[in-house]
Amino acid sequence: MYEGPVQDLIDELGRLPGIGPKSAQRIAFHLLTVDPADLTKLQAALQRVKDEVRFCEICGNVAGDVRCRICNDPRREDTVICVVEEPKDVAAIERTREFRGKYHVLGGAISPIDGIGPDQLRIAPLLTRIAEPGVREVILATDPNLEGEATAAYLARLVKPMGLNVTRLASGLPVGGDLEYADEVTLGRALVGRRSAR
Ligand SMILES: [Zn+2]
Repeated sequence: MYEGPVQDLIDELGRLPGIGPKSAQRIAFHLLTVDPADLTKLQAALQRVKDEVRFCEICGNVAGDVRCRICNDPRREDTVICVVEEPKDVAAIERTREFRGKYHVLGGAISPIDGIGPDQLRIAPLLTRIAEPGVREVILATDPNLEGEATAAYLARLVKPMGLNVTRLASGLPVGGDLEYADEVTLGRALVGRRSAR
């Protein structure tokens, strides 16, 4: 629709999650008018996430080092593993201050439409991890939507025969959405009131 670099920018922005063509266009034109110093800051921030942010070798959360802050924290319990889809879900649950265990980030949810099957997710490392002695409970805290429920059901079938307590967040979360859309109180309650996964 536009020429050269402007269209390239709109195209790139439009590939980001949650940004439709209109938003991409709005952001692109905004960027054309901002102070060059601000643009340099944005550029540097983009470059730094690529260069400096890693994924924790244990849980898959974003980390500044080989392991994330939570996996490295000796005060966190190793007996309970909370399985989430994305690092942003770790942040959402951390904000509730109701969880003292550790996490496992799958890297998404099973979604045949998007071509994401169990093999594309960090399920094998999860199974290895929870087979370690000491793990008692696995909380399936995937999103309260179709893909999240399907992923939780799939994991429950795999994990239950291992003799672990498999739980799911209590109902009351906004259905169809992301964990991160739930407010801290609601999410905290859903975590405390978790129930056995079916
Ligand atoms: Zn970690």
